[in-house]
Amino acid sequence: MFTVDNTLTALKAFASELQEHKAYLSDLDTPIGDGDHGFNMSRGAVALEEALNEENFENVSDIFKTAAKTFMSQIGGASGPLYGTAMLEMAKASQETAEPAPIIEAGLKGIQKRGQAITGDKTMIDVWEPVVEAIQKQEISEALIDEAVQATEPLRAKKGRASYLGDRSVGHIDPGAMSSGYLFKVMLKAGVF
Ligand code: ADP
Ligand code: MG
Ligand code: MG
Repeated sequence: MFTVDNTLTALKAFASELQEHKAYLSDLDTPIGDGDHGFNMSRGAVALEEALNEENFENVSDIFKTAAKTFMSQIGGASGPLYGTAMLEMAKASQETAEPAPIIEAGLKGIQKRGQAITGDKTMIDVWEPVVEAIQKQEISEALIDEAVQATEPLRAKKGRASYLGDRSVGHIDPGAMSSGYLFKVMLKAGVF
């Protein structure tokens, strides 16, 4: 269940993880992209931390709305609008329910609509989708999240910059999958699932 408390805790922890792993996320983006994923995400993270500390939130939806605005305007690249859309859809869904499955699923649908990627295209979708399924089945765990991230390594990218490399994208973990893994692990740790 999403609450104001655990949503704030999770998103603040997400912001810390992104800053802590800034270099690693950019390293993942170097062989199959333009090496800026860590830079992009940590810019969003710094702004998110500020925005979350500034406001007093009365409901979960407003927290996701703030995250959406911040990510859209600060992250840039492909991942900015994708994460921004996900957060915006999660803000809308959390006006109706506090259940994590439909809320994360709304985020996933937003990413799919915006980016047109499907399962196996080697994008963040390859983490969001199994995570939604696992939450629905109540079998979400850190190991499952890690596995989903690692499972992007053998895939051939069909969307985003990595797709320009064709077969040469094989053998590298997708950076957006890794950052999404951080998001779901902090939610798990905060007790959302
Ligand atoms: P850019 O590629 O513009 O430099 P980033 O490096 O910040 O942006 O983000 C790259 C990540 O965005 C990829 O690792 C992938 O997970 C995600 N991504 C790119 N295109 C798509 C898409 N169409 N659908 C879903 N995710 C995507
Ligand atoms: Mg990049
Ligand atoms: Mg870029």
